[in-house]
Amino acid sequence: MLTCKEASRLLSQSLNQSLPRLKRLELRLHVWLCRSCSNFEKQLKFLQRAVRQLAESRADQVRLSAEAGERIRKAVRP
Ligand SMILES: [Zn+2]
Repeated sequence: MLTCKEASRLLSQSLNQSLPRLKRLELRLHVWLCRSCSNFEKQLKFLQRAVRQLAESRADQVRLSAEAGERIRKAVRP
């Protein structure tokens, strides 16, 4: 069974690349059983959608402060 630390790293990694089948299964099992990691996955997906929508809409006109950008980068970094 994966630890929460391993699961959170794999969740972040899975945003940018597909995982090997066994790791994906281990991760799905862990997330299914672990409320903390399930919440973390929901937060990651929310942030990913928000960043995508921001990039797609008026990205050239909306500027985040350097501080806000850094907070988002830290939140989505593995
Ligand atoms: Zn967990």
